[in-house]
Amino acid sequence: TYQDALQTTTQPAITQDGTHIEVAANVGGLDEARKAVELGAEGIGLLRTEFLYLNRTTEPDEDEQTQIYSDIISAMGKERPVIIRTLDVGGDKPLPYLPLPEEENPFLGERGIRVGINRPTMLRRQIRALLRSAKVGNLRIMLPMIASLEEFRAVRKLVEEERQSLESSIELGIMIEVPSAALMARELAREADFFSIGTNDLTQYTLAMDRGHPKLASRIDSLHPAVLRLIAMTVEGARAGNRWTGICGGIASDITAIPLLLGLGVNELSVSVPSLPPVKARIRELSLADCRALAQQALAMEDATQVRALLAQWKDKE
Ligand code: PEP
Ligand code: MG
Repeated sequence: TYQDALQTTTQPAITQDGTHIEVAANVGGLDEARKAVELGAEGIGLLRTEFLYLNRTTEPDEDEQTQIYSDIISAMGKERPVIIRTLDVGGDKPLPYLPLPEEENPFLGERGIRVGINRPTMLRRQIRALLRSAKVGNLRIMLPMIASLEEFRAVRKLVEEERQSLESSIELGIMIEVPSAALMARELAREADFFSIGTNDLTQYTLAMDRGHPKLASRIDSLHPAVLRLIAMTVEGARAGNRWTGICGGIASDITAIPLLLGLGVNELSVSVPSLPPVKARIRELSLADCRALAQQALAMEDATQVRALLAQWKDKE
């Protein structure tokens, strides 16, 4: 029954051989956060804050932001971690009150954290609102589009400056969604508190294919071995620095991909709210040892089609 299903989904997702995989939700507002708790989310793995900034004529002020972040964190309870990502806009997602010059290549231009670094007033305001909200629960801050240590350090310094005036401490993690960040994971893991892989952008930048291009849609697949190798490299770098790695890109909600992602060694999956029950159910069926063997095979494939075929075959043998 529906009640039984709800009862099951609120239990942790543990593999057959006893590893707990944290399953969190990607959330875009308060209603969705409430729904995520109901469906068993162990936290919010990605709160996209764009919803607060888009479709309006003025920037949300610090108090308004603090109110909304606090409401969402409270909705998740004291314990569940809530990862809030700083604003991720740019040439492709313009804001009326943020005049950015038109760019020839907006996906390679002032986008994500680059906007915040170049225009720190807006980023500082958001960081202050986040730090003020932190006291109501378990908040972690995540930075989008980090491509280098230099960028991470610049933002960490800014966060430290704001933190001192507010006297609170906070974990600061990064999205791994630019190939350079995956390649530098070992170095980044010495300084960032956690990693969450944004496979939507990581795939776009690895394959050099626009993620929204209708003519390329059939060929842009996050299960391309090139992307899988970058995921493996990220996990390896994180482990060396005693950090955890999650995936918050769309591939984490793809049920067929779950055994492979677990096999690559990720510790957390952040999925769309409706995917919470099926993702947790799938994890419970799997043995991590088998998943690791599968991942080794996938890493040696030639293209995404072969990886998909391998996954289908593997499922049939179960
Ligand atoms: C991603 O790039 O995979 C991601 C989760 O971020 P967004 O889809 O918001 O760019
Ligand atoms: Mg992204």
